Amino acid sequence: MQLTRFEVPIHKISHIFISHLHGDHYLGLTGLLFSMHMQKRKTELHLYSPPGLNEIILLQLKHSKSVLCYDLIFHSFDPTEQKVLVDNNTLTIETIPLVHKLPCAGFLFKEKPKPRRIDKEKLKPNILLQHIAYLKTGNDVLDEQGKILYRNEDFTLAPKPPLSYAYCSDTAWNESMIEQINSVDLLYHEATFMEEEIAKAVETKHSTARQAAQMAKRCGAKKLLIGHFSARYRELEPLLAEATAVFLNTSLAIEGQLVELAS
Ligand SMILES: [Zn+2]
Ligand SMILES: [Zn+2]
Repeated sequence: MQLTRFEVPIHKISHIFISHLHGDHYLGLTGLLFSMHMQKRKTELHLYSPPGLNEIILLQLKHSKSVLCYDLIFHSFDPTEQKVLVDNNTLTIETIPLVHKLPCAGFLFKEKPKPRRIDKEKLKPNILLQHIAYLKTGNDVLDEQGKILYRNEDFTLAPKPPLSYAYCSDTAWNESMIEQINSVDLLYHEATFMEEEIAKAVETKHSTARQAAQMAKRCGAKKLLIGHFSARYRELEPLLAEATAVFLNTSLAIEGQLVELAS
């Protein structure tokens, strides 16, 4: 419902990552799968989760006598270990073992180094498309005699730095992930409670806003987004204030809000 409300094109979603099987993290999924069916999706959909999600989804499909018009591909992973789930031309996605009441993993999205960029201002109007493609590989373009036709550094700019994003929810304070998410461009970290409820956070294996900010500081994140707030907090500004006192570049994760990373 929220994806529709914020006009996210759901047919573009090809992979879905579920951190753990507490209901607040997957109960909307079956509805989304049926929406995709109603939209006559044809391409396969990959679902990643700790073991058990396939049983839950398949049981719902079975008892509603539903056959989806696209293929669902389940990938279950062991959330206690770091594992690369996706590795393609542009990025890798790996699990981050978290500390929670149920087996739970976050996800680290890392872009791969990017190719050099064509400097459009310097491009000659008669240059061939294949020469542009070759310049993007970082090489000089030679003519048939082996003489340099286009020197790479004259026509290209340095690549933009690859970006990274760590999604960490739900978790208690988790020292063991600091190295894995070191220098991440954006850290999403749960902040279920405020520090005055630290005992409750420890008991339920959640974090406080202050702990989320301490984690951002310890791992050298460039930006922190906090979310997963307990329903007891009507106002979220105090959670933000608690976090920014420790780590300044913090924002509240508000549904529908677009967060752009510097590139
Ligand atoms: Zn949970
Ligand atoms: Zn949760």
